[in-house]
Amino acid sequence: MKRYAVLSMDVEDWYHLDYFAGLTPDRSSSLLDGLDVYLSLLERHSIRTTFFVLSELAEHLGSTLRSMAAAGHEIASHGVAHKRPLKMAVEEFADDLRQSKARLENVVQRPVEGFRAPCFSMDRARLEEVRKAGYTYDSSRIDFTGHPLYGSLNVDDFETVSPGHSAQHGFHEFEVSTLPVLRKRLPVSGGGYLRIAPWGIMRPLIQTYLQSSQLYVLYIHPFELSPRPLPAAAAKLSFPQRLRFGLGRAGVARKLEKLIRLLKHGGFSFVTFRDLCQQSVGQA
Ligand SMILES: [Zn+2]
Repeated sequence: MKRYAVLSMDVEDWYHLDYFAGLTPDRSSSLLDGLDVYLSLLERHSIRTTFFVLSELAEHLGSTLRSMAAAGHEIASHGVAHKRPLKMAVEEFADDLRQSKARLENVVQRPVEGFRAPCFSMDRARLEEVRKAGYTYDSSRIDFTGHPLYGSLNVDDFETVSPGHSAQHGFHEFEVSTLPVLRKRLPVSGGGYLRIAPWGIMRPLIQTYLQSSQLYVLYIHPFELSPRPLPAAAAKLSFPQRLRFGLGRAGVARKLEKLIRLLKHGGFSFVTFRDLCQQSVGQA
């Protein structure tokens, strides 16, 4: 049984997070340097992966994105400016999809094939727009009802390529990993959970997931790996929000190293989503 891991990153700055919507924070400080921390960690382990990038950062990150693509990473879209698709009319979302794809392609000079919705905010009508805008795949599905912003996406009519990966007419959907525990599902894949939960709790959960899985999908953000202090605007958040935003950043790189060791030990190969789409041609 072939096993794959995609250690994806959603490339956005701290002020794109939904916590700061409506606060009009001062954007002069940035935590995007966490991207460099992640890239050097991936390089140390010879791992290539997929980065879902906000297109409003495309020119600012231009030379970095081009060297990432040259190093074998995949540049995909996370939309224009982190507006949640379910908060947009379908036509506005269609425009966001086309704009972000064109702008990223213009900067990177390579085709942009994948999309991940901000906050996994996606439904079936909008998924059709992703397909129509010329993307090959989407990775906005998470089977987790415990988060108020996440959408619910049904792809039951797609063919299962492997658990977590389904396809229909050459278009693919990738689900972010969750583990069933006591009739609920726990995300064993998010940078937030990796930061906040002690490794002694995360390790057995992730190990349980890996034992019976062919695909592991991580999603993490630059702010979670930045060594810089939190921006002043964090003081305006509620106490639970501040904890969720800032807790555990100092230890997350170490936990990632441990996670990578678990994945290697379990026989997982590190790939991009584009690799998985190409491998499955003819299977679905
Ligand atoms: Zn995001």
